[in-house]
Amino acid sequence: MSKSKNTILTEDSSLAAKVLKEGGIVLFPTETVYGIGADSRNLSACLEIYKIKNRPADNPLIVHLGNPGMIQLIGEVSDSVRSLIYKYMPGPLSLVLKKIDESVFSTGLPTVAVRVPSHPKVLEMLSFFGGPVSAPSANLSGQPSITRLEDAISEFDGLVDLILKGPEPEIGLESTVMDFSVDPPKLLRPGYWGFEELKRFVPNLIGVSSLKDGETPASPGMKYRHYAPTAKVFLTETRSPESETAAIGINIPSGWKFSLSVKDNSEYMKHLYSFFRDCDRLGIKEIYCFPPANESGEEAILNRILKAQER
Ligand code: AMP
Ligand code: MG
Repeated sequence: MSKSKNTILTEDSSLAAKVLKEGGIVLFPTETVYGIGADSRNLSACLEIYKIKNRPADNPLIVHLGNPGMIQLIGEVSDSVRSLIYKYMPGPLSLVLKKIDESVFSTGLPTVAVRVPSHPKVLEMLSFFGGPVSAPSANLSGQPSITRLEDAISEFDGLVDLILKGPEPEIGLESTVMDFSVDPPKLLRPGYWGFEELKRFVPNLIGVSSLKDGETPASPGMKYRHYAPTAKVFLTETRSPESETAAIGINIPSGWKFSLSVKDNSEYMKHLYSFFRDCDRLGIKEIYCFPPANESGEEAILNRILKAQER
């Protein structure tokens, strides 16, 4: 797409809400990654997101809401979903529910994914807007999500109507997605919250499974290559430093052309995508990712590295 729009760059969340009301496309930071959003009830605005991102038409968008009380207006909320909402929202968790509001965009599915972000700027924007905002991660389809304003500007200036400035994402990986439209509920994508933590609260939860040939994924997004830089990504435990390649991991040695040594899984999550993007900018051809620590966040980091490794 040609970068022909006159993109507004602002901290004014009421202006962002006005642009959404007029059918515009707004890019905004959340506590997970940057999102690219439109009014969920404006079909042509939602479809424009697919054009801008070059996103496959069957990969649905997550509906962002300004407060947890609005969820029951959009999707079917059982007692167990209600207690989950109380415990985890606002925050980095998306729930797939049976859709009850037909006016909300969802690629024709009978279900809808909802989330209430905890990021202060987005909450302000959503509260000024007053309705649902459909938003996938802000990145061209297949590429790593965006976690820094500079990447948001270089990729989307001229493509969207407004970029909302606010604190940078604290977490760095996309939200956890859980499917409650099925029984028992299923974890579709690990994130800040992983299977072990959630299972304590949802004992019958089923974990992310790898698909067998010919099987239909529960979440359309699961069948696409994702999160990947142009450089080839490898998960490794043993690779020694090399001068022409890059590496990321916990307390890794120096000697690489470019490397990032993080202190724990939180730092790993926060910097993984910006590291991928920096590697591409430096023209690096191979990135070696060392395993995360065996603690909270491990599952999400491994999930993203393995997806990025697919070719
Ligand atoms: P993104 O925000 O770009 O990471 O994309 C949203 C993710 O949520 C994708 O993996 C989608 O497939 C998934 N998702 C959104 N809506 C639904 C739904 N109704 N059912 C299953 N998965 C969904
Ligand atoms: Mg995405």
